[in-house]
Amino acid sequence: NAKRLGRNHSLRFRPALDKQDNPQLALVSDLRAALVSGDQLELYFQTQHHPGTGELLGMEALLRWQHPRDGMISPGEFIPLAERHGLMAELGSWVIEKACAQQAHWANNGMPTLTMWVNISALQLFHGDLETQLATCLKRYRITPGHIGLELTESVLLDERAGDMGPRLKALRAQGYAIAIDDFGTGYSSLGYLKRLPVDKIKLDRAFIRELPGDQADAAIVKAVLSMAKGLELDVIAEGVETKEQCDFLVDAGCHMVQGFYFARPQPAHELEQRLLPQSQPAKSRTGSMAKAG
Ligand code: C2E
Ligand code: MG
Ligand code: MG
Ligand code: MG
Repeated sequence: NAKRLGRNHSLRFRPALDKQDNPQLALVSDLRAALVSGDQLELYFQTQHHPGTGELLGMEALLRWQHPRDGMISPGEFIPLAERHGLMAELGSWVIEKACAQQAHWANNGMPTLTMWVNISALQLFHGDLETQLATCLKRYRITPGHIGLELTESVLLDERAGDMGPRLKALRAQGYAIAIDDFGTGYSSLGYLKRLPVDKIKLDRAFIRELPGDQADAAIVKAVLSMAKGLELDVIAEGVETKEQCDFLVDAGCHMVQGFYFARPQPAHELEQRLLPQSQPAKSRTGSMAKAG
């Protein structure tokens, strides 16, 4: 499977095209350079909360690229490009390495320990050495799998080129990693896979949250997903929560976890530290009260 995917990708990559005529290719070569130098790339972190109490429950690592000329470029733009042009494996490794290093740094500096969720691209999963790579990083930074969560989009899990994802996910989960389905509800799929695949958490896509609480259809969908997830013993996290009204609706509907601008925007590590470790108080006295592990 990995081979077949690889071949498709090399077919699409045509280095002979003139970079100057193709801004996308120029961007690809800039990204390649960014991976070599490393200092244009950065992980931002967005915290996850209980919608009623605001309690901290986890965080997601989100990749940022500060392009030297064009400024901040969205991962929505450069990740698909990296996937198409054979840079995703390297980019994905960079993210895993940085996420683990950050977890270790925080663990050694009195930050509350929260599960850090990392987005995993289809190509990283198909490639097959994700498990080894994670294990190597965890060992290097002395952190446990329980503190790393893997987010896979619904479309990745259902990609037929992947074959049966079950065994691979089971292996990762047996190691102790938590697994979430990202952008849940956008894959136009049958729900049967929820029974087959070993996952811990559903991330309800922002599309269903945006028009809450006014939109009756969205309200019904959100409630139905929450009730289904309860039956399947899956956690649900609502993405893209921006307003108090959305938050209140979710509390009433029994959703225990939210992520969105209402609580926090994605932010660089040092800003998160400032938020979670106010300078006025010694680190040690804060850790107990800040959070339960996510
Ligand atoms: P995602 O994993 O679904 O991440 C959530 C996206 O929603 C993030 O966009 C986040 O900044 C944004 N967001 C969070 N709260 C709100 C809100 O309240 N309102 C609105 N409007 N947006 C909100 P971002 O950081 O631009 O990332 C976009 C996508 O790029 C991610 O979607 C993920 O699929 C991908 N991505 C980001 N970092 C990585 C990475 O390290 N590896 C891989 N493979 N993909 C990544
Ligand atoms: Mg995600
Ligand atoms: Mg998402
Ligand atoms: Mg998304």
